[in-house]
Amino acid sequence: MPRRARIMLMGKHLIAGEWVEGEGVFENTPVSGVADKFSVGSAELVDRAARAAEEAFVEYGVSTRVFRAKFLREIADQIDARGEAITAMGTKETGLPEGRLNGERGRTVGQLRLFADHIEKGDYLDRRFDAALPDREPLPRPEIRMMQRPIGPVSVFGASNFPLAFSTAGGDTAAALAAGCPVVVKGHSAHPGVSDIVAQAIHAAIEICGVHPGVFSQIQGGNRAVGQACVQHPLIKAVGFTGSLGGGRALFDLCAARPEPIPFFGELGSVNPMFMLPHAVKTKGATLGAGWAASLTMGAGQFCTNPGIAVVLEGDEGAAFVHAAQVALKQVGAQTMLTDGIAAAYHSGRDRVAGSQGVQTLLTTTCDLRNATPYLFQTTAAEWLANEELGEEVFGPLGLVVVAKDEAEMLAVAKSLVGQLTCTLHMDDEDAPLARQLLPILERKAGRVLANGFPTGVEVCDTMVHGGPYPASTNFGATSVGTLSIRRFLRPVSYQNIPVSLLPADFS
Ligand code: NAP
Repeated sequence: MPRRARIMLMGKHLIAGEWVEGEGVFENTPVSGVADKFSVGSAELVDRAARAAEEAFVEYGVSTRVFRAKFLREIADQIDARGEAITAMGTKETGLPEGRLNGERGRTVGQLRLFADHIEKGDYLDRRFDAALPDREPLPRPEIRMMQRPIGPVSVFGASNFPLAFSTAGGDTAAALAAGCPVVVKGHSAHPGVSDIVAQAIHAAIEICGVHPGVFSQIQGGNRAVGQACVQHPLIKAVGFTGSLGGGRALFDLCAARPEPIPFFGELGSVNPMFMLPHAVKTKGATLGAGWAASLTMGAGQFCTNPGIAVVLEGDEGAAFVHAAQVALKQVGAQTMLTDGIAAAYHSGRDRVAGSQGVQTLLTTTCDLRNATPYLFQTTAAEWLANEELGEEVFGPLGLVVVAKDEAEMLAVAKSLVGQLTCTLHMDDEDAPLARQLLPILERKAGRVLANGFPTGVEVCDTMVHGGPYPASTNFGATSVGTLSIRRFLRPVSYQNIPVSLLPADFS
């Protein structure tokens, strides 16, 4: 573990090992205290970073797995060494509590170390071998080997609600660097200070490990042209994006319109519906209602896995579940939101739901700008089916109960869903017949289907899928969390009759 480092903000862009000024200055928007100043990014800086990344790829793309694993572990150590400064800056910029930021840092360094272990094992390369069949009739077969190779420079966009785990050294960066791809990060304007300190940690790891400095660059935002230039630059070969549907879709469209389209792995929003099956609601409705309220309001509801919708059957038991949720939600005070813009979007989302036809307000509260209090609404399955806007994410602690008159209507709600990150079943053994009908529907809708739990809290492991059909993600075959996420930055290459001595080091 390195010595505890003394931290000062650089306030600049890190481009291939140099801290570079842009043109103009923007400020972060701290919850309290004095704002910090950061240099504004530009398309010209993106070009410099992308060229350096391509240059670095020449050697980093053929580096050994042992080398890259050491580098990933060094980044984790360097982040840990700056832990206190990162947490202090994170609480200032985002309003997230200290405990949450420390936990998120643990997840971030944990996933860097997990990727180091993962690439050392080598299974992810999916190495295959077809021996030559020189005597085969009518034609001989050549010797063919296949393995996964890094795709080239990757651009990464983090999200406001995970200033560490989905940001500068978050899952996308860890997966790309593990694969052998240089990274150009577009810094998030909601937490430029955290991004600055984390970039310092990566810079230190680059110097210690003797990695080509073009392997990592970060251009701070303050200007939307930076993100657009990142996805349009001809040397960028893939994009890892976590954020809103609107932002993700705009950048996805730019990617698709390139002369050479590239994959855009956008992990977007979701309403994560929960299906409350009747026997479970009968035996533990009140507990489930309180559990839902806790999950819905965790982190001011600013989680992409926030379960915003609960589907129940009409009747006293469903009503008891809703009542328990209402009582628990009433106890939750105002929580600070990540930015003024996110708070404003939450309040307008609430107004949209409240004003929708057939929606009844069950819990309304008042709060100031930048704060969120919970809201609870209820509608019928018939109204839900008639109004697809009710299925759109409101980023914050807002719950909508959808009351189905019978099981057929509950199944119809499931069928009507657009792509989700998660779908949940709350069930008892007696609910198995209905669950058996729902599961084949829900597995087509979501990346992760779960029973008797709440979807907030995403395990970083080999089996995790954090993605789903559009609009949960722009690429339904991928995950942005867990070791499988490395696949996004690899492509298979066949080597036909190529001498083994010429094959990339990763082959052995
Ligand atoms: P966001 O507003 O879409 O921002 C994400 C990044 O994209 C930022 O760097 C932003 O730049 C940039 N951007 C957005 N629109 C752009 C455009 N038109 N042109 C160029 N750049 C653009 O999202 P957010 O507020 O950070 O994150 C909250 C959302 O992320 C929620 O919807 C949440 O559900 C979702 N989320 C999803 C996951 C997941 O894994 N699926 C995880 C976490 C969060 P600026 O810095 O200039 O704003």
